[in-house]
Amino acid sequence: MTQEQSAPSHGAGPLVQMRGIVKKFGSTTVLDGIDLDVREGEVVCLIGPSGAGKSTLLRCINGLEQISAGTIEVGGDRLVYEEKHLNAIRSRIGMVFQSFNLFPHMTVLENISVAQREVLGRGKGEAREKAESLLARVGLSQKAGAYPDNLSGGQQQRVAIARALAMDPKVMLFDEPTSALDPELVGEVLKVMRDLADEGMTMVVVTHEMRFARQAADRVVLLADGGIAEQGPPEQVLDDPRSERGRAFLHELI
Ligand code: ADP
Ligand code: MG
Repeated sequence: MTQEQSAPSHGAGPLVQMRGIVKKFGSTTVLDGIDLDVREGEVVCLIGPSGAGKSTLLRCINGLEQISAGTIEVGGDRLVYEEKHLNAIRSRIGMVFQSFNLFPHMTVLENISVAQREVLGRGKGEAREKAESLLARVGLSQKAGAYPDNLSGGQQQRVAIARALAMDPKVMLFDEPTSALDPELVGEVLKVMRDLADEGMTMVVVTHEMRFARQAADRVVLLADGGIAEQGPPEQVLDDPRSERGRAFLHELI
């Protein structure tokens, strides 16, 4: 069977499968042949020096960046760069960025409801109920009617997580979700993410929070020089790195 004809995985294979991913910007190769699988329910933390290509890799998974070579499958569906297909793939992938990107002119409840109605076609009542239950889950029920400007950064990021979850994603991608926050607000966002991990959500998390990686990751992947320098359980990668690159990176963190 050719790759194009291969059957969907029916849940047997990894939820996200990346093979030979190359990403170039002009003549600069940022990702140089990445193979990475993420299984259903797995929490993968992506770490590595600034400029290593962590954000680029995440953006490739949901088609925000087009890969230069290789293949990406999400739920057994090969990513192709046509608008209709991209929309279908993106609706299965939640993404949370460093900057919260909430709609400033909408209340918290509207922020969490709008895509449910416009993308998934849910009715107003259903979208509202879902939004309310997610707000409870991130501990912000009392903020349903507030505008983003009146929330702390930590609260805004929890709303952004609820908004992503409202689409019932199969996988959640987080790109340094706590790095724009004041230190005292980091914990409340990490707690929501830890709860999500405990509930079995499949997650890929770019983070510098090594404590979170230790507590929540099934696997830590160290990206450096365009490739995966090292990967394994957190205690192995963080405490006993095998690669020179891994040792150098972790040494800088201490
Ligand atoms: P990280 O998230 O690990 O810090 P990035 O994925 O943001 O790294 O960036 C990896 C490299 O790719 C950097 O050298 C960055 O300058 C480059 N890069 C990222 N996005 C673009 C772009 N849109 N155009 C050109 N270069 C880019
Ligand atoms: Mg980045």
